[in-house]
Amino acid sequence: MRNSQRILAELRKQIIEAGRRAYEKGYVASNDGNMSARLNKKKILITPSGVSKGFMKTGDLIIVDLQGRKINGSKKPSSESNMHLQIYKDRPDVNGICHFHPPYATAFAVAGIPLNNKILPEVIISLGSVPLIEYATTGTAGLYEKISAYVKDYDAFLLANHGAVTVGTSIFNAYYKMETLEHAAMIQFLALRLGNTNRLSDEQIQELINLREKFGIRKDIGINQPNEKKE
Ligand SMILES: [Zn+2]
Repeated sequence: MRNSQRILAELRKQIIEAGRRAYEKGYVASNDGNMSARLNKKKILITPSGVSKGFMKTGDLIIVDLQGRKINGSKKPSSESNMHLQIYKDRPDVNGICHFHPPYATAFAVAGIPLNNKILPEVIISLGSVPLIEYATTGTAGLYEKISAYVKDYDAFLLANHGAVTVGTSIFNAYYKMETLEHAAMIQFLALRLGNTNRLSDEQIQELINLREKFGIRKDIGINQPNEKKE
């Protein structure tokens, strides 16, 4: 098997597995959500629309070029293809993207509360702050227009009244960020219900940021505190 075919086969497997886990965890209902992986400089492997992400088969995935033209596959590419392609163009370091509607993170997105994440050390190290992106109709160019202002500075995004997007160096790196985001949102929600949230100090947060280098994480990701006033 040629190397490029081996990479394609491996990425198909990874997307199908990430979709299975996301569906099992309830991050998506019905045929919702979409994922993609960068195959090479010119091609993206993306999930189809109208198919449950929990039960995808190898032949369901579609190869498109960076302009969104279908190169291979019998199904229709995700209706959010434009968002995926734009992210790959603006973030050369990104090789995988997940978009789901995980209930706790989405609840924050519906409530209009960004996840500034000054609470949990692992989340501060791996994600930092998560901005709340203004509402735009799903599947339209307007959605990416709203995300584009934040895309270079964050790896996770809450989409108002919609869901969440995570990006990473691989499809699993993006998927794990989605797990981290949802777990953090659930804990933040529970703390809110308990009536008290002890935040880490700026010094404590800086100490955690300094640890990023050791884990190969960009030092400047999720550093700004977006939408601070809305918190
Ligand atoms: Zn969606």
